[in-house]
Amino acid sequence: MGRRKSNRKPPPKRKAVEPLPVEFNCPFCNHEGSCDVTMDRGRRYAKIACRVCFEDFQTTIHFLTEPIDVYNDWIDACETAN
Ligand SMILES: [Zn+2]
Repeated sequence: MGRRKSNRKPPPKRKAVEPLPVEFNCPFCNHEGSCDVTMDRGRRYAKIACRVCFEDFQTTIHFLTEPIDVYNDWIDACETAN
């Protein structure tokens, strides 16, 4: 009787988990990494604020929104305002 071929799966590759960036350059005072994004996924809302010039921006988010999206929304809003 032939032995059953072992059908073991290769061990899962460990994915390098890189933290998503949550600090961005400020479009107002141009400081690097001075803007922090705070995500409130429960209330579907996010806020980004600059620690240096205190400009801030709030937007609504959904479950796929990342901090970079919040930042991009802010930049878009700035460009629309100008
Ligand atoms: Zn700033």
